[in-house]
Amino acid sequence: LAGTTLLFGALVGCSSERSDAETTDAASDTPLIGIAMPTKSLERWNNDGKHLDELLKKIGYETTLQYADNKVDQQITQLQNMINDGADVLVIASIDGTALGPVLQTAADKKIPVIAYDRLINDTANVDYYATFDNELVGTLQGQFIEEKLDLAGGAGPFNLEPFAGSPDDNNARFFFKGAWDVLQPYVEKGQLVVPSGKGPATLDDWTTIGIQGWESAKAQSEMENRLNSFYTDKKVDVVLSPNDSLALGIEQALSGSGYTSADWPIITGQDADEANVKNMIAGMQSMTVWKDTRTLGDQVAKMVGQIIDGQTVTVNDEKTYNNGVKVVPAYLLPPEVVVPDTIQSLLVDSNFYTADKLGL
Ligand code: BGC
Repeated sequence: LAGTTLLFGALVGCSSERSDAETTDAASDTPLIGIAMPTKSLERWNNDGKHLDELLKKIGYETTLQYADNKVDQQITQLQNMINDGADVLVIASIDGTALGPVLQTAADKKIPVIAYDRLINDTANVDYYATFDNELVGTLQGQFIEEKLDLAGGAGPFNLEPFAGSPDDNNARFFFKGAWDVLQPYVEKGQLVVPSGKGPATLDDWTTIGIQGWESAKAQSEMENRLNSFYTDKKVDVVLSPNDSLALGIEQALSGSGYTSADWPIITGQDADEANVKNMIAGMQSMTVWKDTRTLGDQVAKMVGQIIDGQTVTVNDEKTYNNGVKVVPAYLLPPEVVVPDTIQSLLVDSNFYTADKLGL
């Protein structure tokens, strides 16, 4: 986003606890919206939080925006504080989608509606709406990209594939993997894709065995280093299925550390269009990313919050996909989009997601 560096700076200074004056102003009619985000360590969540916070303030609501450093207990405490402070609606991008049941019961007791943001919240009846991108489609787009690039449908192969999956506690990660694996698994079965490390899940349900906890780049890097050291002494990786950009970054580090160059660089997928990854795409170190224009997610959620506050029907477009174990949560799904090096300008720059300057274009 234009001026992201500045925005980061601003965010650090204003994790926006309600000021005392505001907190004692409990009789105020101005709705208070609690926004809980997982971590500042990933670019996208900084952009998500800032954009939504601005939109809600522009409508005239008070907000409290909190980041939890990827710590589940911290997020629960932040939510409890928002509830105590009289929040009228909670918007939550969860860290562990199964850990919020008790705190959301407290919210339900106070009749506070909850919107799950980007990630579904599981195992509780107390989540009212879900706004996200079509998560399975994200994975499908990654799988199809690999399928086309390698001409798998045309019978090409065999190619060496290393698959990765996202954080096991993130409900989205299963959808991403399912979308991609539904496309790729038939080619594994036919022998056109070979997984030298053996780290392909036996069944779809085994995806967590290759999940990278907390979506950490460093963990993805060391996992990739291990695979390269143990299984690639006499062969080359042709393609890596990476579910998102933070993992792709670690994988790219591992590859360049072990001597891969532009001459033998594998196909690598990603998601989020993070700045570092877009720069790596320009440098030929990442083949694609699935871009989720987080501005549109913020716009949608701000609209839903407004509808809740005004007592209107909340707009959803999917009422079947997201069963959280207790109920199907009415959802609004937005479309993700593939970006390749050739479309960085037309998709990411022309839409002002990034300035050309920022990307060094
Ligand atoms: C989000 C991705 C993100 C990942 C890691 C997922 O829940 O949907 O966009 O890359 O979390 O933060």
